[in-house]
Amino acid sequence: MPQLQCKIIEELLRKPFGPYRDEEVLSAECQSKPGKTLVLNSFQLAYDDEIIGLDESEQPLGTGEVDTRQYRFRGILSIHSPVWLSQVGVKRVEAELNLRANTRSMREGERPTPTITIEGLFNKKTGYLGRTPVPGDNEFKLELRLKIQGFKNFPALYMISKLVPDGLFWHSKDCNRAYEVATMDIYTFQLSENFFWRYRLLALMTKIVGEGRTPLEKRTPEWFVSQYLERFAHPASDEHERLIYDSTDSDIVDIDEGRTRLPRHPRRIHRRDILGLFAAQSEWFVTDNEVKRKRIFPFKPWNAFRKEVRKARWQAARNNVIWGWPVGHDEDDEDSEDTRNVVERNPIIGKTNEIVRRKIDRAKTRRTPPSARRVNEPSSSSSSDELDPARAHAYMSDFSRESSSTASDSSDESVDERLSDFGELIPRQLSQVPELPGPDNRWWCPVPDCGHMVDLQHLTRDDIKALSATTVFYLMEKKWRSIREDERAKKCFFEMVSKHYEDHFADLGLRFVQTRGRVSRSRPVFYNR
Ligand SMILES: [Zn+2]
Repeated sequence: MPQLQCKIIEELLRKPFGPYRDEEVLSAECQSKPGKTLVLNSFQLAYDDEIIGLDESEQPLGTGEVDTRQYRFRGILSIHSPVWLSQVGVKRVEAELNLRANTRSMREGERPTPTITIEGLFNKKTGYLGRTPVPGDNEFKLELRLKIQGFKNFPALYMISKLVPDGLFWHSKDCNRAYEVATMDIYTFQLSENFFWRYRLLALMTKIVGEGRTPLEKRTPEWFVSQYLERFAHPASDEHERLIYDSTDSDIVDIDEGRTRLPRHPRRIHRRDILGLFAAQSEWFVTDNEVKRKRIFPFKPWNAFRKEVRKARWQAARNNVIWGWPVGHDEDDEDSEDTRNVVERNPIIGKTNEIVRRKIDRAKTRRTPPSARRVNEPSSSSSSDELDPARAHAYMSDFSRESSSTASDSSDESVDERLSDFGELIPRQLSQVPELPGPDNRWWCPVPDCGHMVDLQHLTRDDIKALSATTVFYLMEKKWRSIREDERAKKCFFEMVSKHYEDHFADLGLRFVQTRGRVSRSRPVFYNR
């Protein structure tokens, strides 16, 4: 083969071709088989023309809703055989290839090259591609690479597929073609880190459980951490093995394996570090349906762990320690009206963005006309779709009344009267108007030993779960700067607090029921269950 032509071909093939749609350019022959998978590089994921990651596409939590979104992916695929291309594919690639060749010869002032065909490129005797590599032959490095675009078919599999046990396995809608994703676009990768952590931990847990000799009930988060530290974190081989070393190192016994004479003392991993990894994904472990079906750990202690983690994250944060958070929990805020941005800036832990987005969109359509609602309207009527009227409560109207109003005092009294029957049982704080959050917009529940914290800048799933759509939207839209200065935000805050207080009542075996008397003000009544 003339050396010059080889150089030209190398130049023409340097950049990947496309992007093409997989259904158009790939044939049914192009498939992964045991022992030989199709490999995608620079994998990129998009929804609605925005780059996303697997954290979003893999429906983080089993909320029970069916995800009907269409996820588009792109990746670079190296074509190993001409039969991998459809007829259209051959034509499209040849057209782009010859266009590149013509542009090149014009630029170089050369005579146009004869038409290049895919068949010619892959010719066993005279071609450049698809030949068995010969050691020392540089030509085998040439590759025909296409930028492929398709739609997601099945959930992504990481470290759980038989074909790609250590990697990421991806299915396209077209011919259910399966790919191994070898490398990722940086943004898609960054937005996939929680997904990777979850399945990495799950793979580790599956390994730890092994043949399952430890009864299910004993497999608590602490147990997994202990098992990891005992069996995986510090393997015996580490003690005499140096990974990076110099052959002149006097302590090295075996030059090939880096074995040392003296025992090494690698850093010991602290329990807390490992527990933090489980903590960061604790919501996922108890909500993902697939994981639940695997039954490798008992639900109850893990759910209790999830609740503890919620508190521990904030307790750590108060000491300036970041512990137990999923990746990307503190995304920056930017001003924008767009619902999608509002949602993305406020990842609600435990809810797929779509659900939150829908909730907000619903709120937006209902928001008008503005005059239709008074600021101090009780929450029960403003959220007919979200609240069971029987469970609606009175705090909203009591708390949110202008502080100057004398009526609020009498209202508090009536609450107190009722409360007196259960005086010893009910924490006093529950009958008091809560203190507003400080300048950091964080509120700590005053009930002794509760420790519950609401960060109004970073709402969690639990914070918003019982709130009306309008409230969620208003809080997340963040047009308010400070709860203290914004009456509407204040109202939303009170709604949130009373929701939390309802949980306290529920813990005490009490239910809070709102009754509407002749007085338009609402009154609380307690039942002992
Ligand atoms: Zn509380």
